[in-house]
Order: sequence, then structure tokens, then C-alpha cells
Amino acid sequence: MVPILGAVRPAPSGLVCFARSYRPFSLSRPSVLPFSRFGSSPFNSVFKAFLHSSPAGKQPGAQLPSESSEIIFLGTGTSEGIPRVSCLTNPLKTCPVCSKAVEPGSKNKRLNTSILIRYPGPTGQCNILIDAGKFFYHSALRWFLTYGIRTLDAVVITHSHADAIGGLDDLRDWTNNVQPCIPIYVAERDFEVMKKTHYYLVDTSVVTPGAAVSDLQFNIIQEVPFIVHDLKFTPLPVWHGRGYRSLGFRFGNICYISDVSEIPEETYPLLKDCELLILDALRPDRSSSTHFGLPQALEEVRKIQPKRTLFTGMMHLMDHEKVNEGLLKLMETEGLDVQLSYDGLRVPITL
Ligand SMILES: [Zn+2]
Ligand SMILES: [Zn+2]
Repeated sequence: MVPILGAVRPAPSGLVCFARSYRPFSLSRPSVLPFSRFGSSPFNSVFKAFLHSSPAGKQPGAQLPSESSEIIFLGTGTSEGIPRVSCLTNPLKTCPVCSKAVEPGSKNKRLNTSILIRYPGPTGQCNILIDAGKFFYHSALRWFLTYGIRTLDAVVITHSHADAIGGLDDLRDWTNNVQPCIPIYVAERDFEVMKKTHYYLVDTSVVTPGAAVSDLQFNIIQEVPFIVHDLKFTPLPVWHGRGYRSLGFRFGNICYISDVSEIPEETYPLLKDCELLILDALRPDRSSSTHFGLPQALEEVRKIQPKRTLFTGMMHLMDHEKVNEGLLKLMETEGLDVQLSYDGLRVPITL
């Protein structure tokens, strides 16, 4: 797929490409990764081992073996981040979760929801980011260093709220100092928002000559599968509040839905045979108008029947250890394998 300078046109894969700049630079892999199912693979035991052994703190030299694939959770919290500043400065009340979240290595410390998918390419690891929110710099500062991540081969966008796109400006450090540009995959409605929020990244003619902003290559996606560096992404359209569309994504047998208040009927078939579901669960007691709460998220898990589920997008009412303890009991009573994720969690995957 070659982006066309200053033009919008349909691409063969169902993509529409828009590029304000194109350079002869490619991070594509020539060969297609074999898509395998986890089946009876050692995924389950490896995954469990990681869940229980991967600390939220620094893991020096924890680089990925060259033939392995994995997901790294760069953020698992709400837009304002956890701890909330307002909780820490409240003289009248101590917030139990936010006070724990300031302790080093706390799994209650959460930045904006985002994951990085890493898989082997012919010239090294391919790193695909889902969402670059307001705290992207802080997530990258912590986890890119910890896990030895250097390049960003693409960014796939779920929707255009600030906690999903607020970090696009920070990508300048990559395109100025690491690589020439970064392809962005975004739905047209969200690209329209970016034209306002990040107008200078879409139309660089307004940028003062010499100023070095992010060099982004925009690819418009529709609600049909698309390929990024040989990895197939299937959009999972969901409602994120009434009348507001957000996208989850399926890659391999992994489904990621970070911002959802309702899953439309037509999306459920796309979630079949899911090995790992990563799903929005804002608060422990109830749903909000824009996000699943834990009770509804669990109902969805019962309906979708993934092999495993990791929740994300948790607010400060979700205490990592306490909620996970309760969720563990569902394994005994219902056979549900559900847990909260946390920032820095690495999950080995098979693609
Ligand atoms: Zn709090
Ligand atoms: Zn949102």
C-alpha cells in the first residue's frame, strides 16, 4: 500500500489512505505471519506464569526473544490517571486506592489505556501501538526503557478522545530522532477530529519552517479488516456512549475493546473463538453512560466466552488486589478466567 500525496482514495484492502507526506521508507515485512490458534499450546501456562510473576516495576534487560510475540499494557486506567491528584490533595478524605497508587511498583498506578503489540519481523521486532493518549510520553518513558522498545511501526486508533489521541504530538521524538515517519490508522470520523485537535500534524503547511513536529502518515480505516505490517486487524465497532462509535480490534484470536458502553449485535460474531479478551471495566459497582462497569463486563464475558479475560480502563474505585481476589473466585464457581490488567503487564501471545 502506497500512500498518495495529498489525496484520499480507496485502497484495495478496504483502506483509504491519506498522506500529507510520503517518503520512500518502509517497515513492512515481506512475508505473512502464519496465523495459528492457541489450541493446546503452552499459552495458558505461560500466560499464567506471566500474570503472577511479572512485576509492575522495572525489569532490566527484559527484552523479547526474537521469535516471540507479546502484548505490553502501556496504560490501564482512566483519562485523568490514577492516582487522581484531587484525591491526594483532599484534606478531608483519604482515597484508599490513590494512596496505594503512589507507592513504588503499585499495580494501582494507571495511565491512559493503551497496548503495544510486538511480533517478529524479518528485520527485527515490529511494534504496533493501539492509542497514544495524553500520558503516552510517561508510559513510553517507563515501559519502552524497561522492555527495550525503540521504534514505533504504526499506531492504530480506537477513537478520538484525548486519552486515545492526546499523545500524537509526542511522537515527534520518534520521527525526529528514531525513524522518518509513523503510519497512523484511524477511522474517518476520528481523522476529522484530528484535523481540529492536531491540525498542524495533518496539514504541515501551517508549521513554521524549521519546527520539527511529528511526521505522521494517516491511513483511513473503515469497519472492515485491514493489514498493518502483515498483521490483520479486524475492527470491532462498539458504542462508547449513546451515538458515539469507538473501535475495538481483533488481531489473531485476541480481542481488544478499551472503550465501550454497548456491543452491537453485529459485533458479537467477530468475537467468536476469542482466546484473550481485553475489555473495558471502569468501576466495580455499575456501568457509566460511556463505559462498562465490572458487573456488565462480566456479563459480556459470559456471553462472549473467551478463554481468558483481562480488564482495562479501571478508575480509582478499583483496587487491583481486592478486585482480583474477588475475580479469582469466579474461576472456582463458574470457570471464568478473569483478572484486572495493570500497567507494564506483558502477555506472551501467538499470532
Ligand atoms: Zn482516588
Ligand atoms: Zn473515550
